[in-house]
Amino acid sequence: MHVEFYRHNLDAADIAEVTRVLQSVFLTTGPVTAAFEGKFAALTGLPHVVALNSCTGALHLALLALGIGPGDEVITTAMTFIATATAIMHTGATPVLVDADPVTAQIDPVKVAQALTSRTKAVMPVHLYGAMADMRALRAIADAHGLALVEDCAHCIEGERGGVRPGQLSDAACYSFYATKNLACGEGGALAARDPDIAAQVRTLSLHGMSKNAADRYHGKYKHWDMVASGWKYNLNDIHAALLVNQIDRLDALLARRQALAERYDRGLRGTPGLERPQAVGKTAQHLYTIWVDPDRRDEILHQLQERHVGVAVNYRAIHTLRYFRETFGYVPEDFPVANRIGQRTISLPLYPKLTEDELDYVVAQVREVVAG
Ligand SMILES: *Cc1c(COP(=O)(O)O)cnc(C)c1O
Repeated sequence: MHVEFYRHNLDAADIAEVTRVLQSVFLTTGPVTAAFEGKFAALTGLPHVVALNSCTGALHLALLALGIGPGDEVITTAMTFIATATAIMHTGATPVLVDADPVTAQIDPVKVAQALTSRTKAVMPVHLYGAMADMRALRAIADAHGLALVEDCAHCIEGERGGVRPGQLSDAACYSFYATKNLACGEGGALAARDPDIAAQVRTLSLHGMSKNAADRYHGKYKHWDMVASGWKYNLNDIHAALLVNQIDRLDALLARRQALAERYDRGLRGTPGLERPQAVGKTAQHLYTIWVDPDRRDEILHQLQERHVGVAVNYRAIHTLRYFRETFGYVPEDFPVANRIGQRTISLPLYPKLTEDELDYVVAQVREVVAG
């Protein structure tokens, strides 16, 4: 048996949609991107959606639209992918990392409150593994101190916690459609917001700061565009949007499958000595199936699983322990002991709708043997 860490869910209809785009006039941002934005707004319940070429770009532009720049501090978690912090650095602001909750691995609101300074302008929570951070607690902190809130929803389109979904309590929710995400087109992202002004600013900034995009310019009598801001090049194109526009209709069914697989893992791995799991609060998008093992044996376990043809990944080592963050900000591992320890213990197992029960049962058997040592 050979179990891939990830396999995508694109089907014949998605591929046919790409072919249709390739046979049309428009390859760049056009009618298919617009159709996807409409469907994504309906899915998330957030009225204003801008399709972009990455979540990193969405995070960057969300902060810019909220007026964040050099001299400002933005608080985020040490237990995340590096893009959460690099997007803050793209604006010229300083990422201020805080520790994670030891049970959920989510950003700890108590630590956020302790990290506030007169320079703090925003908080950027991450909904890690598909479960949600405590948005009510973070909203209360943001209200008390006049801060912006931008959510990294790269793992979490479908989650809900205490009746709150991504984007409902924040200024902007930023999504990823990277190759391995729950909704995937290879490279892609989106910003969703309640405030039309934030979305409009992000749309302009995503296309060089131009006042009109190619589709606007295509129709009717020629009208000059203007440059109204200094922008970036983050727009999604219709070829990539074609892979998303029908896939989005299957997201509920795909999540149900992920859920069933995660429950089968839970049953199969229950009672394995030396194995723990992060706990999700509320409904999770089941993006990653994470196990926590003995930190002194993690790499050995990873390698043994690979030798047994089980695809594995590490999501993530705490970012303050990575060389760039250590050298640039002077962090040491003990600065965030919870995130550091999670990063030393964590292993992601294969979890995707095409994973079969036989494959999953094989993974469970290998994990039980290898972890037992
Ligand atoms: C994937 C990911 C990102 C970056 O998404 P891109 O679309 O690749 O820019 C950001 N944050 C987290 C937590 C991610 O997993």
